[in-house]
This record gives sequence, C-alpha cells and structure tokens, in this order.
Amino acid sequence: MNDIKTEEEKEVKEKIKKKPKKPPKSMPWFMPFVCDGCGDCVKVCPQGGIELLGLDRKVPRAWLVAPEYCIGCAKCAEACQSSAVQMTAYVEQAITRYKTKKPFQ
Ligand code: SF4
Ligand code: SF4
Repeated sequence: MNDIKTEEEKEVKEKIKKKPKKPPKSMPWFMPFVCDGCGDCVKVCPQGGIELLGLDRKVPRAWLVAPEYCIGCAKCAEACQSSAVQMTAYVEQAITRYKTKKPFQ
C-alpha cells in the first residue's frame, strides 16, 4: 500500500511545473480580440500556464496567467488555428502585460 502511495506521489511531483531559472528568449503574445476560446493552447502548454478567462461569457479568451512559468516553447502559438498567439522577443513587456492586464478589463 505504502509503495503505491509513494509511486502516486512521485507521479504528482513529476507533473508539477517548474519555474525556469531565467525568462525565455521569446514569449507568447495573446490577442484576446482574435481568440475564439477553443482552448487548444491551454491543452498543449506543458507548463499549465494558460487559462481561459470569462467562461461565463459567450466567447472566453485565453490568457497567460502564469508568465513566470513560460519556457518559450511556442506550442501555444503553433496550436492556435486562429492566429491569436504570436511569439514575441519583448519578453519583459509581455510579462508586465500578463501581470497587469486581463481580457474583459
Ligand atoms: S510558450 Fe510554451 S510554456 Fe509558454 S505559454 Fe506557450 S505553450 Fe506554455
Ligand atoms: S488556441 Fe488560439 S483561439 Fe484557441 S483559445 Fe488559444 S488563443 Fe484562443
């Protein structure tokens, strides 16, 4: 029994996202007015940093709610069929934007 619990704990630990030591060279720039709320970017982000905001609305919008966890892998931008995400080298500006603004504000 104890062994199984330990295995489960190990698995959970492995799934916990790790903060990169330094910011990535590029970061996604989400454009809420183009987003159709499909959620594809949320599913592919290995860091679990993207969320759909405004789920009570007709069209929710994706947002990078945990920019400090982003590793710049661009999977979100590749997954977005609506071109609502583009990678940008303006990482500091992007982080500030995600921390101070949200869709529907
Ligand atoms: S670049 Fe990668 S880690 Fe960063 S938000 Fe997109 S999918 Fe997640
Ligand atoms: S994949 Fe694109 S359209 Fe779909 S939720 Fe993400 S940003 Fe919005």
